[in-house]
Amino acid sequence: MERTEVGTVAKNTQEAQSQGHPQGRTGGTVAHRAELVIIGTEMLLGEIVDTNAARIAQRLAELGIYVHFKTTVGDNWTRMAAALSQALTRADIVITSGGLGPTQDDLTREVVAAVLGLPLVEDPIAREHVEGWFRRNNRPMPASNRKQALIPQGAVIIPNPKGTAPGIIARRGHQAVICLPGVPYELETMMDETVIPYLKRHYVTNGSLHSRVLKFFGIGESLLAERLDDLLALENPTVATYTGRVEVRVRITARARDEAEALALVAPVEEEIRRRAGDYLYGYDQDTLETVAGQALRAAGWTLALAESCTGGLIASRIVNVPGSSEYFLGSVVAYSNDAKVSLLGVPPDVLATHGAVSAPVAEAMAVGAMRRVGATLGVSVTGIAGPGGGTPEKPVGLVYIGLARGDWTEVHRLQLGGDRERIRWHTSQAALDLIRRHAQAVSG
Ligand code: ATP
Ligand code: MG
Repeated sequence: MERTEVGTVAKNTQEAQSQGHPQGRTGGTVAHRAELVIIGTEMLLGEIVDTNAARIAQRLAELGIYVHFKTTVGDNWTRMAAALSQALTRADIVITSGGLGPTQDDLTREVVAAVLGLPLVEDPIAREHVEGWFRRNNRPMPASNRKQALIPQGAVIIPNPKGTAPGIIARRGHQAVICLPGVPYELETMMDETVIPYLKRHYVTNGSLHSRVLKFFGIGESLLAERLDDLLALENPTVATYTGRVEVRVRITARARDEAEALALVAPVEEEIRRRAGDYLYGYDQDTLETVAGQALRAAGWTLALAESCTGGLIASRIVNVPGSSEYFLGSVVAYSNDAKVSLLGVPPDVLATHGAVSAPVAEAMAVGAMRRVGATLGVSVTGIAGPGGGTPEKPVGLVYIGLARGDWTEVHRLQLGGDRERIRWHTSQAALDLIRRHAQAVSG
């Protein structure tokens, strides 16, 4: 019954298109419009937060494809069909996430086929893909998974190297409906390996588009934007600032006939930004503070030991996320209580008693303790009040000390950070990694 209703929606869609939507547009100078349809009742219940849309949108922005709408819809046939139909009235590229699994409530295939007016057929490549996944993982294939080999007639599959459900690219005229599974790491891999190259081939026809992202720590977005004021008005390349997670980013995007030309447009602007933003610039594109700090330590030939109080191992965790970090990272002492600061790091009890755990002298003693006891070139400590409780007028929530020790040299930085507990701890980890980067770079040049 619901299906007849949707038949009407699909018809309306076609009408809307013939009335106003430009058909057969092939690119030229017009930027293509994309729309996202994010499928999953869990998101409407607030059980999970949709991160897939952000990932997809970021990758599309890099191609110069704009996302005009995003709809989140539950696993419901009628509403999914309505969302998809509406998207097709106004977008060139519709990307869906979720609903490609084998169960009853995974309806994306069926809905896409119905809205496009195409029969669902079993695709031999898709079938081999699904069966192959079970073979390689030594598991018997449940009958329900055969459904994952169905695609709308004429569509092509998107290989899914990390899971069972292949994705789908179905076309209607100049429009593409691209269906990806909900599991984020599957979706990301498929975006990178298949969807981005596909979109580049079919939708980025206006020569080459080249983007470079510059990453900054320690300077606010508005201050940086002020320094770059005139550059933000440029047209080719365009320059835009945006915020990351306690860091600021600047994207430079150039359009040109080919990559070399685009790069030549980006380079002088990048140089000018570097000149104006100085050493707040920590890295580019895929760089993170932990990768850059690691490179700086390696270049300096130093080893690192940490003493973490309020971050509870967060900095160490970020550092060991980087492959090869064992070359420079020796270990972290998580010393949360005063007793642990004394017994594990050798912080003098009278220094603790006189100044309190959140103080410059304790941060210094913790850094020295980590350096000596772990036997590293550089010792770095953090101690602070992450809140929400524990603050006083003299030592408010967000007060953080970061200590550094190398040989006989020590230095302590005092920060007053804003935000909730999670943000204060993250900000502290960013600041500590940035200080490691700066010190190691200063020495190794
Ligand atoms: P599967 O084949 O695993 O069933 P699927 O394509 O049917 O994949 P869903 O069942 O919708 O996808 O989602 C699978 C899992 O991926 C969900 O449990 C959810 O945790 C996660 N997920 C789904 N959609 C999103 C999203 N938009 N953002 C973040 N995580 C998501
Ligand atoms: Mg599912």
